[in-house]
Amino acid sequence: MLSNESPGVTVRTRFAPSPTGQLHLGHALAARVAHDLARGQGGAFLLRHEDIDTTRVREAYYEQIEADLCWLGMRWDGPALRQSSRLAAYATALDRLQALGVIYPCACTRREIQDEVAAMVAAPQGPEGPLYPGTCRGRADGTPLPGMIADGSHAWRLDSRKAADITGKLTFTDLRHGTQEVNPDLLGDVVLARRDIGTAYHLAVVVDDAYQEISHVTRGEDLLPAAHVQRLLQALLGLPEPVYLHHPLVLDAQGRRLAKRHDAQSIAALRQAGMSAAELLARLGAGDS
Ligand code: GLU
Repeated sequence: MLSNESPGVTVRTRFAPSPTGQLHLGHALAARVAHDLARGQGGAFLLRHEDIDTTRVREAYYEQIEADLCWLGMRWDGPALRQSSRLAAYATALDRLQALGVIYPCACTRREIQDEVAAMVAAPQGPEGPLYPGTCRGRADGTPLPGMIADGSHAWRLDSRKAADITGKLTFTDLRHGTQEVNPDLLGDVVLARRDIGTAYHLAVVVDDAYQEISHVTRGEDLLPAAHVQRLLQALLGLPEPVYLHHPLVLDAQGRRLAKRHDAQSIAALRQAGMSAAELLARLGAGDS
């Protein structure tokens, strides 16, 4: 799997769940891919709790995640990182992006965005539905008022076109999907800082993948589109470029990807039902590809 790696690369992977629900089989596969890739190369396997969304996080889930991993026989290196302790680093990165002129404040509500999309003849489409139609882009002239970053009245969005103009063409390497050319339009002008928490998924991930010196970002292939935005952000912020490995998803009997609503498939429920860790891991065969 690592045949195209240069010798001497220290492999560092991470498992990055959100403590907002039980881990299920999909998480077990994500953890196993990250764990086995690192351990197979004598590298490091890290754990990161993606807990920026404090409205959804529950304290009990941190412990449950760690207990589930231990039960599966996976030990992580060093203390687990909590993103909630890293808000200052995300704010610094956002400042940098603001200085580059590639973010803009957005005051649109979800409802306003839906209405605008519905009124458009050809709303821009992403892999999972309509994209932000760019309503606030250019409105603030790139010079928002001081204090806007955390005053709770605005989100901050990436101006993906402007960003791509600065970076030029980019690619990233995925060990299953090959070399991918970054498409800055794929997810459009994503939110980089939510109005309520001052940061958001893509920004926190790239800042922390660099901070934790992750060499290989492994995760389910539903997040392949996210790598396009994240590669763009890495280039803008001058962060190192990891190798990616987006693995197949675990699907339910109807072929749908597992989600937190599938509580019956949670690792804890399967364990309580008498399944052993070896049996559970054997169910994840799809990850071998
Ligand atoms: N926190 C994300 C999840 O639980 C994973 C993010 C990532 O691996 O980049 O799906």
